Amino acid sequence: MNIHEYQAKEILAAYGAPVPRGKPAFSVDEAVAVAEELGGPVWVVKAQIHAGGRGKAGGVKVCKSLDEVRAAAAELLGKVLVTPQTGPQGRQVRKLLVEEGLDIARELYLSCLVDRSTSRIAFIASQAGGMDIEQVAAETPEKIFTITVDPAMGYSPYVGRAIAAGLGLRGDLAKQCQRLVAALYRAFIEKDMGLLEINPLVVTAEDKLLCLDAKAGFDDNGLFRHPEVMELRDADEEDPREREAAQYGLSYIALDGDIGCMVNGAGLAMATMDIIKLHGGEPANFLDVGGGATAEKVAAAFRIITEDPAVKSILVNIFGGIMRCDIIAEGVVTAVREAGLKVPLVVRLEGTNVDKGKAILDASGLDIIAADDLDEAAQKAVAAARAGATGA
Ligand code: GDP
Ligand code: MN
Repeated sequence: MNIHEYQAKEILAAYGAPVPRGKPAFSVDEAVAVAEELGGPVWVVKAQIHAGGRGKAGGVKVCKSLDEVRAAAAELLGKVLVTPQTGPQGRQVRKLLVEEGLDIARELYLSCLVDRSTSRIAFIASQAGGMDIEQVAAETPEKIFTITVDPAMGYSPYVGRAIAAGLGLRGDLAKQCQRLVAALYRAFIEKDMGLLEINPLVVTAEDKLLCLDAKAGFDDNGLFRHPEVMELRDADEEDPREREAAQYGLSYIALDGDIGCMVNGAGLAMATMDIIKLHGGEPANFLDVGGGATAEKVAAAFRIITEDPAVKSILVNIFGGIMRCDIIAEGVVTAVREAGLKVPLVVRLEGTNVDKGKAILDASGLDIIAADDLDEAAQKAVAAARAGATGA
């Protein structure tokens, strides 16, 4: 789960990490009121969307008067911002962050994440801040350094010292850096984050180190321990289908293809997507209905797939172990009766109560393409999607 920059900064500030003074604003008048409260002479008005690259897309405005703050807020609120991270459809701006403007001497990069290759928490830092770190990594990898934290040792002040040295910070700035790194690490661990990125981390003209931008992502599996983090969820920033799926406890991820998939078990779902691709098709989603799904849950899953206008055919691939095939069949029939079936539906059932399941589908009178194994099912779904796409 991701949160907004202003929310991430509130969390960091609570851990003692220095951030610019500022407050969120949800209307033009509120933005001006926040600016007045902060006092000038310079303010920054920042669009709050769950995507970076706002600076280059005009989503970060430096203002030198309250009139400029008003104009910037009026321009940004409601605007659809297209950045390299939003995709071509962009994201609508509904919230702003108004901050004091700072005199920036240097822009650095610092992030903290779970490094899967070492199974450790790693800090990644670079003197090339304020830019797209993927680009820095691709073009000048020597400008990036990584320091991992040994889980047996826990956090050691050495980590902060090494990062300060790598970032070229000396004297009091090095001390500020050590305090900052320790604060970031504590926030990361205690809040079960998966990613915390400060880009840029800035040195001001007054030699103060501050988190000018902040991006925080949380481990979904740890969220139950953090109701205060769950409250920061912004439904406007999430895919409505993924949101509905989450309500029913389904694992759903929207993808770019045109074959809707409904599968039980993450491994089988991955295998199904692979076989669809092997036969030249593209899955429209990953969807795992889980082991103990009810007919209601299956119906919800089916509805989510059929509501996706990109879907040209649907492949239901169920292996009934704990899950019984007749429950799946009932769910599919219920959903089709409710929502109608506009695209070809291929069903492959195997396992517990498979005969009962097939009988339910047969008796339903629905136009279902049956398949006995996964290979055949994938081929039929790919062929049906192609026929649908060409209008044949
Ligand atoms: P992003 O483009 O979405 O990552 O947004 P950032 O928060 O990183 O802001 C982009 C850029 O705006 C930064 O790299 C800074 O150069 C600039 N910026 C942001 N806040 C200030 C500020 O207070 N003063 C000045 N001079 N520039 C700022
Ligand atoms: Mn940034």
